[in-house]
Amino acid sequence: MKALLVNPWIEDFAAYDFWLKPLGLLYVGAYLKQLGFEVFLIDLMNRHDEEIKRYIDVPKDKFFKTGKFPSIKIKKPDVLSFVPRNFKRYGASEEFFEKKLKEIGNVDAVFVTSTLTYWYPGYWDTIRFLRKFYGEKVPIIFGGFYVRNLPSHAKQTNTFIFSGSELNKLPKFLGSIFEKNFETKDINWFEILDPAYDLYNNLGYLVFITTLGCPFKCSYCIAHRIWNGMRFRTPRKVVDSIEKYVEKFKVKDVIFFDDAILVNSKKHFHVILKEIIMRGLKLNFHLPNGIHARLITEETAELMKEANFKTIKLGYETSGELQIKTGGKVQDKDLVRASRILRKYGFTENEVSAYIMLNIPGQKPRDVIEAMKVCKNEGIGFSLNEFTPIIGTDDWIELVNNGKLTGREDPVILNNTVLPFWWKYGMNSNLIQELKHIARKIKEGEFIDTVNEDFS
Ligand code: SF4
Repeated sequence: MKALLVNPWIEDFAAYDFWLKPLGLLYVGAYLKQLGFEVFLIDLMNRHDEEIKRYIDVPKDKFFKTGKFPSIKIKKPDVLSFVPRNFKRYGASEEFFEKKLKEIGNVDAVFVTSTLTYWYPGYWDTIRFLRKFYGEKVPIIFGGFYVRNLPSHAKQTNTFIFSGSELNKLPKFLGSIFEKNFETKDINWFEILDPAYDLYNNLGYLVFITTLGCPFKCSYCIAHRIWNGMRFRTPRKVVDSIEKYVEKFKVKDVIFFDDAILVNSKKHFHVILKEIIMRGLKLNFHLPNGIHARLITEETAELMKEANFKTIKLGYETSGELQIKTGGKVQDKDLVRASRILRKYGFTENEVSAYIMLNIPGQKPRDVIEAMKVCKNEGIGFSLNEFTPIIGTDDWIELVNNGKLTGREDPVILNNTVLPFWWKYGMNSNLIQELKHIARKIKEGEFIDTVNEDFS
């Protein structure tokens, strides 16, 4: 049987390829191969696909193969008409998509993945396009984070909804669609399978996860609800995968996208790092997913430096009392300690930076400014991310219980860029702009010792 995997378009006001790869879909691809499927992939978001570049102008790479996605302006969904910004579709052109579908020809099933819930218009348009091409005769199986998070919403696409994250449930699920028996033996797929990168022709970088799950329970995050406990892939296998695909694609940049890579690091991450060093891999490594400052040790920093890590993002989020209220994963003193260790081992302000969240419920502007100052004083960078109430998180539940959200909002208006334009319980767009302005000043070395009381 033939299966086509599709990484769908993103439709939003902005989108940036900060090392985005459809890892879940690639694991599905590897699993389907085990079940005997012949598997094809169309990744509409692969900026490094030479064929995509023939149909649309792809902006040049910025740092370490990240960059802007190609885009076209499209009509805003009606529900967003009040937002004074252009709405765009990011990714490959329709001409490219159609050509690839024709090349691949008939398939028995199409698998479409999803990530952020508020990006659903792009997933829906991708599915409409596939329907137009295949008609109703080919089953479309829809999975990924949005589908898991909001299955009843995703069902409106009339696709087959795979709302689990455990791939061993796929054989039974497919069996019910095709009225056929697929062998249902449980495999430790996370250990034995590599994400199916061999389905690509060109890649700019490689993304891996070495663990599943997170033991922390931050109130704004849903990661800890997706996996039951934590799973670790054997370090040697992780490095085997890296070596195999680096050799195939000749890439220089390798990204770890784990939610909690530093947990149990003596037996896991440190072993991976030692293996990388021992094998002499001359690569740039990146950790863009907000690692845990409290879990960084001198050994972690020393090994990361030797292995050539170029991007280390620390999850900081806020200063002030919300640090404890939101789950207590990090406090100022943890960030200070981690920054000092990383600086001691030679990491620069460009290489180490902290994520600071803007507009967490109950957050004061002073909390954001203080957090920026802590980073600046410790000689690390920072970037501001706007809060989005992810459906199903503790924060979202509390906002619904307090009547600050109805719980029935269209997911697109929960987009963090949209929220300040309508949500009266958080920071408004002027205040957000002001804080971004202050951030620029702090980065330039100004505004270090004063907090503007107007914002407190
Ligand atoms: S924010 Fe990070 S530490 Fe907190 S639950 Fe999510 S993944 Fe875990």
